[in-house]
Amino acid sequence: MMSKSRMKYVFNIPTVVPTGRVLVHNLTRHSASTLPGTNDFRAWFDILRDDYVICACGWAAHIGTHYCEAVREEETNRRQDTPEVRGVLEGLGSRLVLGYTPSSA
Ligand SMILES: [Zn+2]
Repeated sequence: MMSKSRMKYVFNIPTVVPTGRVLVHNLTRHSASTLPGTNDFRAWFDILRDDYVICACGWAAHIGTHYCEAVREEETNRRQDTPEVRGVLEGLGSRLVLGYTPSSA
């Protein structure tokens, strides 16, 4: 029953992460509210792997911690929380109350 690949693509911003999985996205530029599947932005659930790193881009902040593919150095610190991002996240938080957990970030 279990396929070898555990990757499961998502096409919205999830509100919960399945037990034993992490939420991961690729390195395509995106905003806090970009839906996976938009342009080249992709996100998926997977088991945690060495080539995933904790991401602080502000996307899906209601999840808590999420991951992205290991980044090249130039990408690492580019995206910080801006007032604009926080505003979007607050909007999301109120819509996605289920699964909302305050981030420590
Ligand atoms: Zn991210």
